[in-house]
Order: sequence, then C-alpha cells, then structure tokens
Amino acid sequence: MALAEADAVARHAIRVRGAVQGVGFRPFVYRLATTLGLVGSVRNDADGVLIEAQGDAAALERFERRLRDDAPPLARVEHVESTPQALAHDAAFAILDSRAGRVTTAIAPDTATCADCLAELFDPGDRRYRHAFVNCTNCGPRYTLTRALPYDRASTSMAAFALCPQCRREYDDPADRRFHAEPNACPRCGPTLALVDAEGQPIPGDPIAATIERLRTGAIVALKGLGGFHLACNARNASAVAALRARKQRDAKPFAVMASDLDAAQRWVRADAAAHALLRSPERPVVLLPLRADRPDALEGVAPGLHTLGVMLPCTPIQALIAHEAPDLLLVMTSANPGGEPLVVGNDEALRRLHGIADALLLHDREIVARGDDSVVRVGADGAPRFVRRARGYVPRPIRLPRAGPAVLATGAWLKNTVCLTRGDEAVLSPHIGDLGTAATCDALVESVDHLCRILDVQPQAVAHDLHPDAFATRFALAYAAARGLPAIAVQHHHAHVAAVAAEHGHRGPLLGLALDGVGLGTDGHAWGGELLRVDGAAFERLGHVAPLPLPGGDAAAREPWRVAAAVLHRLGRGGEIAARFADQRAAGAVAQMLERDVRCPLTTSLGRWFDATAALLGVCTTQSYEAEAPMRLEALAAGAACAEDGLEALVTIGADGILDPTPLLARLADERDAARGAALFHDALADGLARWVAQAAAATRLRRVALGGGCFLNALLTARLVPRLETLGLDVLEARQAPPNDGGLALGQAWVAIATLAQGD
Ligand code: ZN
Ligand code: ZN
Ligand code: FE
Repeated sequence: MALAEADAVARHAIRVRGAVQGVGFRPFVYRLATTLGLVGSVRNDADGVLIEAQGDAAALERFERRLRDDAPPLARVEHVESTPQALAHDAAFAILDSRAGRVTTAIAPDTATCADCLAELFDPGDRRYRHAFVNCTNCGPRYTLTRALPYDRASTSMAAFALCPQCRREYDDPADRRFHAEPNACPRCGPTLALVDAEGQPIPGDPIAATIERLRTGAIVALKGLGGFHLACNARNASAVAALRARKQRDAKPFAVMASDLDAAQRWVRADAAAHALLRSPERPVVLLPLRADRPDALEGVAPGLHTLGVMLPCTPIQALIAHEAPDLLLVMTSANPGGEPLVVGNDEALRRLHGIADALLLHDREIVARGDDSVVRVGADGAPRFVRRARGYVPRPIRLPRAGPAVLATGAWLKNTVCLTRGDEAVLSPHIGDLGTAATCDALVESVDHLCRILDVQPQAVAHDLHPDAFATRFALAYAAARGLPAIAVQHHHAHVAAVAAEHGHRGPLLGLALDGVGLGTDGHAWGGELLRVDGAAFERLGHVAPLPLPGGDAAAREPWRVAAAVLHRLGRGGEIAARFADQRAAGAVAQMLERDVRCPLTTSLGRWFDATAALLGVCTTQSYEAEAPMRLEALAAGAACAEDGLEALVTIGADGILDPTPLLARLADERDAARGAALFHDALADGLARWVAQAAAATRLRRVALGGGCFLNALLTARLVPRLETLGLDVLEARQAPPNDGGLALGQAWVAIATLAQGD
C-alpha cells in the first residue's frame, strides 16, 4: 500500500512560454498547485515561467492541463513542456523571485476593467466603491503607464503613489487577486479625479455626477482615459454633436459612440454573437456594426452617410461609473486630437489644446506615459476581428514572425503611421500615431520609437523605411540609421503591404500579393496602388497593375473625387460632359482643359481612385471631407442594394500586359441613375475582375497562395465579394488579421522585408 502511494508521486519541471509575465500567472500557478496538493515552486525567467511541481501523478496531470485551460485572462499560453525530475523535499509550494540575469518579459496591453473589479466599484460596502482607479492583476492599465522594463511599479507612472498598508498587503499576498498588481491603488493611496472648467477651475461636487450633469445638458466634456483624452457629448443631442464637429474642425468623419452595456448598444446597431464577444472582450475595441433601421433616434451628425456605427462598451472605471450612473446616455467618444494632431495626454496639455473645444475636463493625476487611441475593428466573415486601427488593448502584443532576425526598426508610411520594432521573432507595432502632416505628429513618432525601444529593451540593428524620399518617416529613418551606423533598407510600399500579411501568417517563400490601396511610391517613380505582385521575401516582381488614371491637378484630385470622375469621362471620349456634370465645381472647366492638354495630370495605378471616380460619377460623393469618405459612402450604398447581373466579365478587362481595366464598368455606371444599384454593381464587377486577374497570375506562376493587403481591404463588401471567388478558383487566401491591411500595418511588412533582406547576406 505504501509502495503504491510512493509510485504515484512524481516531479515535473514545467516550462511555460507565451505572454505569462506581469499577468498574474505565478499566483495562478501557486493557487492551482496548492488546490491540487502539489509542492514545488514557480518563477519567472528569461524564457517565460518555470515550474517545479511534485505530487500525485493524477494531480500533476490535471495541473498541467489546467495551466492551459484555466490561465488568467491576460495570459496567453503558447507552449507547455513537461520533463520528469528526481523527487525532492519541498514542504510547500513557493513563488520564487525572478532568476538573476536578463528577463525577457513582455508588457501587457491595457485591459478593460474586469468583472471582479466592477463588482467592487459598484458595491457601497467595498473600500473601492466608486474608486475610479480600481484594477487588479487581471485588468487595468499596463502599456500606457509603463516607461521601461523591467515591469514593476517603479517604472510606471504609479511610482508617484505609495501603497497604503492595506494595498501593500494585497500586493504581497500570493493568494490575493492583486498580488504584484503594479497599478494597485485605493481611495486612500491612489490617484484622484477632478472635474474642472475650460479655464482649469475646479467644479464643485462629485466629479462623476457633475460630469453626467454636464453631458446631459449638451456640454462637451474631455475625459481622461487610458491612453489619452476623449471628447464626449450626448450622441442624441444633434446640436452638441454639431458643436463638437465645429470645434474639432471635423466635417463629416464618423464618430464612435459608447453605450452603457450590450443591451443599450443593440438598440442602435445589429450585433451577432461574434460582435458581442468583441464588444465585451478585455481589449474592448470600437466595433463597427450595421446601424439598425428601427433605432430610437437617427443620431444626426454622428456618422453621416454611413451604414455602420463604431460602438464601444465602457473600458475604464471612469467610463464604467458614467455608464452605471447614467445608463440611458449614449455618448459620442472621439479621440481628443484637435486638427489631426496626436492624442492629448497631459492635464496641462489638455487645458491648453482643448481650450475652445471642451466645456469641462475630467482630469486625474495618474500620468499617461504612452499614447494609445481606441482600437477600431470590424467583424470578419469568420467572426474574428479585422483591424481598422490597432492601438489600445492590443499594443504591445507581439506578432510572431516566420523567423527570428536582428532587431529592426521600421518607420511606416506617411498616413496612419505606426512604427514597428522586432525582437527575435516578435514584431511589435506601435499604436496608431497618425498622419505625419504636423510637427507634433512627427514628434510623436520619435517618442513612440523611443518608448518601444525601452519597453522591449532592444536597440535596433537595422532600419527599414518607405521609398518616398520626402516623407518624414523616411528622413527620420535615414538620420537614425546614419547616426548609429546601421543599415537602412528601403521597402516599396505595396511590397510591404503584402509582406505584412505574409509575415503574420508565418508564410515564407514565394506567393502572390494583391495590393489594393490608396497610394504609395513605385520603383518606377510613379504613384502605385492597384498592384498584382509576386513576392518572395526580400524580392518582388510586378506582374500587373490597375489601369492608370490621370489625376488632374495632382494632390487635389485625391481630395476631390469629381476630378478623377472627369478623367474617366475624358477617357471615355465624353470630356464634353465634364463642365455640365460638375457645374458646382469652379475648377470644372480648368480640369477639362488639363485633361484635354494632358498638363498637371500625373498618373496613378491606385485602385482607391477608381472608387473615388465611381462615387463621383454616381453622385454619391464629389468632394471628400476626410480620407476615404467617397469609398466608404459607396460601400454603404452598395451594402443595402442587391446586384444580380450577368456578364460581369465584360465590365473589367484584363490585358495581355497584365493590366486590369475597369473602364467598361465605369462606362456603364456613367449612365446609371440608381446610385445604390450602381454602387453594388461596381463592387461585384470589380471583385469578379480581380478574382480572374489573380487566377490568371496563379496559373502563370504556379503559385496558389495570395496575400491581400492595402487600404481597400478595409472595405468589408469588396472583401466579402472577392475572397469566396478566389477560394472557388482554388486559391489559398491570406487576409490581414493581426494588423490593419492599410498603412497602419505597413511597418510590420517593412520590418519583415528588412529581416529577409539581411538574411540574404548570411
Ligand atoms: Zn480587475
Ligand atoms: Zn491603498
Ligand atoms: Fe498603403
């Protein structure tokens, strides 16, 4: 009997890899081991977490299974490996300090307040009742308040707050939910809230109650969030929304809203089970969802001309308190970044930069170290998120590359800039930085590079950048490389788009790339943006492109779709109609002449411009007040229309030279009176042509796999029409899933091309 018991006892060394540090993993292991009657130890080290566990063999087996199945919410267990060991004499199970030496650890993303913390927040008997900074190991701020590795309180902006004895006890107790919760705080020792007016004068009363009161009466209130300030107002108050637009100088770009809970959200948008899961996920992104026709209010001015609305649920304790105490309020929640500049993060900065915009500001004294806008996703056909913007909640979660390489810094594109830093086989994308059109945004890029280097604890060994010589991101990359004697690697824009998608799918070797985009500089010095490529790591070949369109007046044509429509009319031999069709445009006559004489008409192969031309020909959008307004409105119209048309093949032709030409389609649409029908036909015929185009290239190259990249893939309808067609034709389709397909994910592709380039020299 005694012998049998002894036989059943075993000891295993268990290695756990993944995001398992700074997420409550060791206390979880401690509790699990103690529950199962195991002895041994757990510690962090350079490879993750190392466990020594000893006890009943059956209990050990359960232990190892539950390490994966029951891991804490923020942990991501990628790998568990167990090796038998000789028995030892531990009296109990212990949490050991980190093993000496460099600890390769990862900072977790910021995470929505967990259910346990919310219960405390709303419990009048709890010591954290209505404490706007409640958090625990399973939730709360991380990335946005961390200055550098190692991740402990001293390297966060919570260093300014000394733990009170009660919070200290929680922090030190392995059995407590707040064991080593670095931002741990309570009303006695934590940060405090203050509502102030536009001049910075305190507004008396309870800050949350006073904020709600102001929101109810139509005021615009700046709310300090995790990664920056939001501007909030009552979404159902059209004059408040109009005032916000006027003050923020934002004509029509859609606003996101915050609903108090899922039920409230569903009064406004249609959300299926996948959308529910995303809305309630710990990442808590803004989710783009179809507006309900039977919603209680039109929400005038919130998302003009669009069929979707960006919705989020409360993410922070401040937001949760507002939602809890004013559950009927639907709030516009927009990033406080006046004039397209970077997000406002500091209190003084907020008072200065939001002067004239916010009527009141809800401030607190916990410093935001790093910016992090809200992430924006839509729900993919498979229920998984597709990024429109990847920031708070996801950054700095690494994207696994197909192979390790030297640390590369990639500086991204001019629009929707993000930067990327690699460490081993991990690529970390910065949060959305913005369009590099202002000095402040350029400064934000530099800060972001510096912050990434510190929180990953790496120094770049090479720099990757776009081909465009004038872009700030390129000039910065070249200067950075020169100052440090590093190689600088130029990566063509659409090569990078395709490489980003290939990289996140772990693809090595050649594949086809379909880059459908706004604009990026080509290797021939022209503006590209509708490219069919053969990509093989560091190299690419241009197999074909979309028929070039002239842009009368150059850059102006990107803002004014009617100009591109005029170019199409001219191509169709109908240039005589330009002046009459676009009579409301003062430059119509001049544009007709430019096209006639072929002056100031640079060419582009951008597919985005064909969307613009179509939107303008159909009268959907002739001038844009924000980037991609025309294609977004076109998609919104098409989404509500049916299109059952034969003979699509004739509408988009493919030449022997590999040129895809939608001119016949636009010839049809130029006389279409039903804009919705025309918009639907455009999407269908285009998807049909694109699929045939890729299939031809697949046959010629004997490649079956195609990666889809570029901003046009934010168009859910085009994607939904194209992907099944490609799959029917026998292609294996890779979509952007871990990063946005647009320029927000470009730096990832640049970094991967640079690693492939450097590997050639090995
Ligand atoms: Zn929590
Ligand atoms: Zn405390
Ligand atoms: Fe692009």
